[in-house]
Amino acid sequence: MALSVLTSDYASLLALEFNRNPIVNDEAAFDIYPPPPHPDPSTLPARPPVVTIMGHVDHGKTTLLDTLRSTSVAKGEAGGITQHIGAFSVPVPAGSSSSEPTRTITFLDTPGHAAFSAMRARGASVTDVVVLVVAADDGIMPQTREVIELVKNSNVGLVVAINKVDKPGVDISKVENALLAEGIQLEAFGGDVPVVHVSGLTGQGLDQLVETISAVAEMQDLRAEREGVLQGYVLESKVAKGLGPVGTVLVLRGNLMPGQHLICGMTSAKVRLLTDHNGKAVKAAYPGMAVTVCGWKELPNAGDEVLTGSEADIKKALTNRLRKAEIEASLVDLEAINEQRRSERERREADDGEHTADVASTEAGPKELRLIIKGDVSGTVEAVKGSVTDIGNDVARVKVVSTGVGEVTESDVLRAKTAGGVIIAFNVKVPRSVENEAQSQHVPILTSSVIYKLIDDVKARVIDLLPPVI
Ligand code: GDP
Repeated sequence: MALSVLTSDYASLLALEFNRNPIVNDEAAFDIYPPPPHPDPSTLPARPPVVTIMGHVDHGKTTLLDTLRSTSVAKGEAGGITQHIGAFSVPVPAGSSSSEPTRTITFLDTPGHAAFSAMRARGASVTDVVVLVVAADDGIMPQTREVIELVKNSNVGLVVAINKVDKPGVDISKVENALLAEGIQLEAFGGDVPVVHVSGLTGQGLDQLVETISAVAEMQDLRAEREGVLQGYVLESKVAKGLGPVGTVLVLRGNLMPGQHLICGMTSAKVRLLTDHNGKAVKAAYPGMAVTVCGWKELPNAGDEVLTGSEADIKKALTNRLRKAEIEASLVDLEAINEQRRSERERREADDGEHTADVASTEAGPKELRLIIKGDVSGTVEAVKGSVTDIGNDVARVKVVSTGVGEVTESDVLRAKTAGGVIIAFNVKVPRSVENEAQSQHVPILTSSVIYKLIDDVKARVIDLLPPVI
């Protein structure tokens, strides 16, 4: 029989499966980890804040980001072409109170939002400030409340942007009162949450928004080491013509430079080239900056952590990560085999006359909450799938039936109906006609733009599948 050398985590799991004692070998468990927290962060250099724009669908997040992005290009390189890389930085107008000579704000854009959700789901917080966009003509909507909940449960800074103030007849104070009723302590009412009135369409109020974000961030006193081991996260990745796999990395600590060796999930890179959102080559990226990295062996996953190390250490860590993944996969296989055995046994028992009445109606295997996932971009869909897939146990659990990008369609409803499943609409619209169809077919649709809220909803539904405790 073959002898495996296992990482200690997995050895115990396998030991359970086979009733055997594992051999634990520390060398075989080697991996690369982020550096420990700095003992005195107040001595570190300041870094730009990382900002995420969130809010209800159609309230103007994309428009706001587009306008902010084009302003940043206009103020930066003349004639520069903006690249959509998952983040961009905007200079803070001069004349504000700070003593820092050049200040910028890094905005995560839509796919960044998906990666942000994935990262948060894993407990990594990359966002310092959330801008909650509320359309003045629409007010507080379900996804507005989700963002409010999210912010309340974290320690990120909050700026409210009441958008579409260019629209005639909008009642801004009504929206402000509604926010107050939701427990948002607005500055105008003696609280500490600033509100800015903006129009993503005309650009009105955007300078003030940038300054307000900067002021909120200044109070957070954001600092990080510019030297030492890199810790960052992939915001998005793609295969680019002539460049191969590229991935945008948001630097949290340390620095990122050409020539460095990186590890990220199951892939690695020797950094060939770094470019910013204007497509310009940069010599180095520091905390709070997002740059596109060329030189990956394979496409890195959005939301995965990026670390540096020596070429040899990275090679060793990768070998171990791959081995760990293989063992994980084989454990899943084992589970499937066990499941098959269990259901065969149940079927045999069902055939066995005496038990027929008791077991014939028992479904084989665990009960499944079947999900059809729709999301705004593929990064989001993957993030949602990744966060809900593991929910459940061997009695009831999630099964992802299908995934897709774009709004919910009637064929999704049909698919859900056939599978006896539930549709997840993450950051996408559900047209009224589709909603009606789903209602008449009794197909539930869970809409959300906040991954934790969604995870909770899915958990609740899986729990509903569990038999009652007697
Ligand atoms: P998102 O779903 O939150 O990203 O919203 P979008 O940015 O796609 O905007 C939804 C709709 O609202 C689009 O038709 C925009 O043109 C419109 N819109 C966005 N911002 C403004 C604004 O400031 N004023 C007006 N009048 N319309 C806006």
